[in-house]
Amino acid sequence: MAEPQVEVRRSKRRRQTVSAYRDGDKIVVLLPARMSREEEKRWVADMLSRLQRSETRRRSPARESDEALVERCGELSAKYLDGRAQPRGVRWVPPMRTRWASCTPSEATIRVSQRLRDVPGWVLDYVLVHELAHLLVPGHGADFWKWVRRYPRTERAIGYLEGLSAAAQLGIGLDDDAEEAEAPAGC
Ligand SMILES: [Zn+2]
Repeated sequence: MAEPQVEVRRSKRRRQTVSAYRDGDKIVVLLPARMSREEEKRWVADMLSRLQRSETRRRSPARESDEALVERCGELSAKYLDGRAQPRGVRWVPPMRTRWASCTPSEATIRVSQRLRDVPGWVLDYVLVHELAHLLVPGHGADFWKWVRRYPRTERAIGYLEGLSAAAQLGIGLDDDAEEAEAPAGC
């Protein structure tokens, strides 16, 4: 994961308490004004690891098994795609070199890279909505994005995945060019 950008804010009104929250891609740490640099360092490290633990707890239940993944796809299809995307198979697969996920519309099957097991649930949801939408519209045209953008955190999730790919120097895209050769239907 990328080192998050951290902004430290000191407040004269704060006496003892330290707190932290995520603001987009940035993490804001609130400290009492009189704290020393040394204490600041310790607290920032401490708050970052606490925040990371709580974000880890928010990972998707779909990470547990293929069955849980299938169930999540059903929920997302019902909620964002009028229940029209009905995959015949959804499963976790070993990390793929260039993709987070892929689908084969002709078979209505979806494969999700195990690299995504530990991302926040809302990021995995985006990936699933994206692949489910390919069961309705192959390719990445305007019709396709109209469906996908019904999922409200689409832009944020795309940004998250780009950051993740860049941080790990993976060069992974969602399912673009490489897929053409394998799935002529154009997932
Ligand atoms: Zn796609």
